Amino acid sequence: MEARSWVVLKFGGTSVSSKERWETILDVCKKHKQHGFTPFLVCSALSGISNELEKLKELSLKGDFGGTLESIKARHLRFAKELDIEKAEDLLKDDFEELENLSLGLSLLHVSTPSVEARILSFGEKMLTKLAHQWLVQKGVSAALLESGKFLKSSSRPEQNECQSYLSAICDGAYDESLCRLLSSSAEEIFLTQGFVGSNEKGETVLLGRGGSDLSATLIASKIKAAKIEIWSDVPGLFTSNPRHIPTARLLGHLDYEEAQEISFCGAKVLHPKCLEPLKKSSIPLELKWTERPEYEGTLINHSVENSPLKVKAVIAKKGVYIISMDSVEMWQASGFLSDVFHSFKKYGLSVDLVATSQSNVTVTLDVLANTLNEDILAKLLICLSKFCSPKKIGPC
Ligand code: ASP
Ligand code: MG
Repeated sequence: MEARSWVVLKFGGTSVSSKERWETILDVCKKHKQHGFTPFLVCSALSGISNELEKLKELSLKGDFGGTLESIKARHLRFAKELDIEKAEDLLKDDFEELENLSLGLSLLHVSTPSVEARILSFGEKMLTKLAHQWLVQKGVSAALLESGKFLKSSSRPEQNECQSYLSAICDGAYDESLCRLLSSSAEEIFLTQGFVGSNEKGETVLLGRGGSDLSATLIASKIKAAKIEIWSDVPGLFTSNPRHIPTARLLGHLDYEEAQEISFCGAKVLHPKCLEPLKKSSIPLELKWTERPEYEGTLINHSVENSPLKVKAVIAKKGVYIISMDSVEMWQASGFLSDVFHSFKKYGLSVDLVATSQSNVTVTLDVLANTLNEDILAKLLICLSKFCSPKKIGPC
């Protein structure tokens, strides 16, 4: 069979949550087909469902999961009805049963493990893709539903604790010959899989971290050497600033990988901060697209950005930031001061974000996204730092 040219299309929660949106998704797929590309869809869960599943886990531990479980089931059945899915109850029967069993297990044991939590959270993407696949089939589209855990494989890392290895697993995006062989031997027009979900060496379910479907999509794009990838969401792209706070913010039409990565690391919610790395390596261009207005030109991200006279691309604000200011005259003309100080941050698992220095002061901010910052850890950090300087904590700012 002739080698196919792939386009990976990732749709976020709000983009998969109504029939109208699925009509748009199908149109987008058809357009790509006309241009010779085979669409590979990566989908998030129905909007809000991952949060509901987290709540289900919490409430199960307290023995009170019934209401939340019923509302999760009802939400999927309502969505299935909107899509006119035949026999939706049969289609989701096994998932409903397994979710109930897991909840019941937690309510009896009163303890959870990261592995159980990963399984519970994975049902959002699993149920959505089953319904979407059935809808495509009923529409007469030949579509294949693939299980993402079969090819998004995580490897155990010594630096990861149990929680991280199940809930923020690291998967690689190396070219996947067996996946490509499987795809090229299939005759289907559209392929569909779950975002967010992978599996480990033992075949257990792992997750790529909250908001991780973007990362699933770019890893898959890189695994199959896709010609391009599009991330579809409820916003048009990346802006010069948050348009909710700054109404005059402009859409950024074109960015290179480093610029887009910096903006997403700084907290722009449109893109998962880690998702550009796999694309950079294999030079796959990424477009951010707006599901509400598919014709709208969003943000294109690739290697080349013409030498733009605009040197500052974006201004971003972060909330809840802690600043640690460290004063010491002893660092002047001394060596090893920063090494001692940064070792203390490492010791408490704190990730430093920005650093400013002068002759007698070093001030850092702590990354709110990476850390589970709490007063206890910060108090211990300050005691540790006082061996080298006079530290001061400022915040949350
Ligand atoms: N559904 C998952 C979440 O809400 C993954 C994603 O949407 O990217 O975090
Ligand atoms: Mg997202």
